[in-house]
Amino acid sequence: MPHAARQVFPFSAIVAQDEMKLALICAAVDPTIGGVLVFGDRGTGKSTAVRALAALLPPMRAVEGCRYACDPGAGEALCEECRERSRHGALKSLLTPIPVVDMPLGATEDRVVGSLDLERALSAGIKAFEPGLLARANRGFLYIDEVNLLEDHLVDLLIDVAASGENLVEREGLSVRHPSQFVLIGSGNPEEGELRPQLLDRFGLSVEVKTPAELKDRVEVVKRRDEFERDKGAFRAKWKAKDDELRRRIVAGRKRLRDAATSDQMLECAAKLCMQLGTDGLRSELTLIRAARALASFELARDVEVSHLRRVAPLALRHRLRRDPLDESDSSARVERAVVDTFGA
Ligand SMILES: [Zn+2]
Repeated sequence: MPHAARQVFPFSAIVAQDEMKLALICAAVDPTIGGVLVFGDRGTGKSTAVRALAALLPPMRAVEGCRYACDPGAGEALCEECRERSRHGALKSLLTPIPVVDMPLGATEDRVVGSLDLERALSAGIKAFEPGLLARANRGFLYIDEVNLLEDHLVDLLIDVAASGENLVEREGLSVRHPSQFVLIGSGNPEEGELRPQLLDRFGLSVEVKTPAELKDRVEVVKRRDEFERDKGAFRAKWKAKDDELRRRIVAGRKRLRDAATSDQMLECAAKLCMQLGTDGLRSELTLIRAARALASFELARDVEVSHLRRVAPLALRHRLRRDPLDESDSSARVERAVVDTFGA
């Protein structure tokens, strides 16, 4: 493990913030859930949590020398360069940590998607491609701090790539494509500009993080942070067993997810809840079901149950509600009420 990953705050040592932890764990079990939007005050440890989760996950096996860290077993999904390599013998691989890539504000599109050097391509007859952030993020996390300040077209682009798992760069008749599968995490501060509703809907889950209100939680946050800063190695050692256990559960959850079934009855429950809330389209139901399935798998439950739906409903639905001029309550409260109306107290 590289030096940087060893210095990360342990995920298990994060105080409270249960909703954020739940959303990140669901996304780690099933990365196809569609990313997580984290709303909240500054200094609530949003970025720390993402880094902590990535550092906790088992390292990934990647093709040695591949600029996109291809999975050697990806077959058809290997990048062009790896497919070429594989024609000359078995692919060499190594273990590498799960990447977390930060999206800098003001990043150009070239920096994000990568750039094609047309002059070199024409003169040398080769595809001169300089990979961008989407290459580095492959199989990991892409973190956008203050997603509401990022240009709309870039956010659209990131969401499109995250959904397709592939980055396609085209310039004047030349094109390069490479795998780019990542979990998009966007953090937003609602006081600094709103996100377009069409954009909100494209994030799988959303969570609200707040500075802990309980005195004992606040004290615990400071105590642990202080202990960590004073001796990172010792602090990590202290939390290692808890992090190891969580890693085992996520790995077991991923295995279970492959054969997890969802009964028609649960699909009906999800549909009823979404009808009750008046959410548009199928995306809310699909995400609700996927998140419930990820949670059930993580808890090694036999099947998805109403209790799983209930717990993930706020995460999957609150950012998809239409404004109701007659209802002043916040979206979390509206979801809670609909859950009670649909499934009982
Ligand atoms: Zn490759």
